[in-house]
Amino acid sequence: MMGERRVAQEALFYEFSLDRHVPAEHLLRAIDRFVDLSGLREHLRGFYSAIGRPSIDPELMLRMLIVGYCFGIRSERRLCEEVHLNLAYRWFCRLGLDGDVPDHSTFSKNRHGRFRESDLFRQLFEATVRRCIEEGLVGGDGFAVDASLIRAEANRQTYVEGTQGLGAVPAGRAVEEYLAVLDDAVFGGATPVEPKRVSPVDPAARFTQAHGNRADFCYATNYLIDVDNAVIVDVEASTAVRQAEVTAAKRMIERAADRHGLWPRKLIGDTGYGSAGMLAWLVHERGIEPHVPVFDKSARSDGAFERSDFTFDHEDDSYICPAGKRLRPRNRNFTSPRPEADQDGFIRYRARQQDCSSCALKPQCTPILPARKVTRSIHEGARDLARALSHEDEWITSRRERKKVEMLFAHLKRIMRLDRLRLRGPNGARDEFHLAAAAQNLRKLAKISIARQMRMT
Ligand code: SF4
Repeated sequence: MMGERRVAQEALFYEFSLDRHVPAEHLLRAIDRFVDLSGLREHLRGFYSAIGRPSIDPELMLRMLIVGYCFGIRSERRLCEEVHLNLAYRWFCRLGLDGDVPDHSTFSKNRHGRFRESDLFRQLFEATVRRCIEEGLVGGDGFAVDASLIRAEANRQTYVEGTQGLGAVPAGRAVEEYLAVLDDAVFGGATPVEPKRVSPVDPAARFTQAHGNRADFCYATNYLIDVDNAVIVDVEASTAVRQAEVTAAKRMIERAADRHGLWPRKLIGDTGYGSAGMLAWLVHERGIEPHVPVFDKSARSDGAFERSDFTFDHEDDSYICPAGKRLRPRNRNFTSPRPEADQDGFIRYRARQQDCSSCALKPQCTPILPARKVTRSIHEGARDLARALSHEDEWITSRRERKKVEMLFAHLKRIMRLDRLRLRGPNGARDEFHLAAAAQNLRKLAKISIARQMRMT
């Protein structure tokens, strides 16, 4: 007999447990175990008035934001709709079945106001790092660093010529933020080079081109990760130029030591972090092994002898050429015992013209110039150490481990859909990068705890 659903007989009372309807293996269940917001109200107390109408609970908004970043729901309007409809999201946000979801405009007010002033997202991110350390996911031996470009919320075809063009732009929050970071070494102070195009809606974003993509206004998100489990131990927003990314790497290493007592034995990075200054900072100031290719422009394309064909004599402070002649520092300041370096920190060593003019190897050594010269960085010791490390077996492991930070960026853009910012200005970029990194750490904690449970059963 064909059955018929009886829709008219509705139960008078329902007994409905939200907790029972969220599957045990749901990602949010695992994430929930690692989200501790018990100190949130105390942290924000000073940013709320003691009188007046009660606000939306900040814990609810923060939990909703965690849902949004974990599941790639970028629009606040859509996030409110999803939380309203999805039982698991309601359960995670402690909303119950009939709890009211706040209006999307509430997020905007809080994100630009008290959440930012209280540095709430930074606190949330650091709490996830502490939890990863407690769970034993951070080895602390090897760190990897890299940066990735994220498009700003700015139209690439709407721009003014140079920073002078900003004079005609009406002042707004993004312009104020741009002026506030003009001297910051990871933003305006990173380079004296004036940008040719400036976005009037987000002047701190840099017009630049990622590999193979068209040029656009971008910020850079910088990650410092522990290579054991690819936990993000620090994150920093910067302008999209290499000097800023190197400064951001230094800041992150210092902060990881200050906040979490993490002091890695080695740092893995690409050639962008292989400048002489950065290598010297790692080796001499921090005692960290640089597993970083040396940024070296001494290679010759004309088949002539390279610098590696010359032997450096430390005691005599001179190079010995393949013909056995000495190259000595020529830009020596005779009032000082040390030769002077140029503005990039390089000392020029030159052979004597008499030696080269009578040398049979001259066509292979310096076919055009009358005498050969070789440059040497004042940080050559650190560069030599990095070169020596590149010949060790561990180098191959380090190259493989560096991919982990690239995979995190791919996950950030493809799964969490943060290939373009929604908030403007350096503070908007900072907020989004902190939340995204916190969400990535929480997902990592959740997945590892699920895997551990499955191994135990
Ligand atoms: S050309 Fe000059 S520097 Fe080069 S091998 Fe001959 S003597 Fe040495």
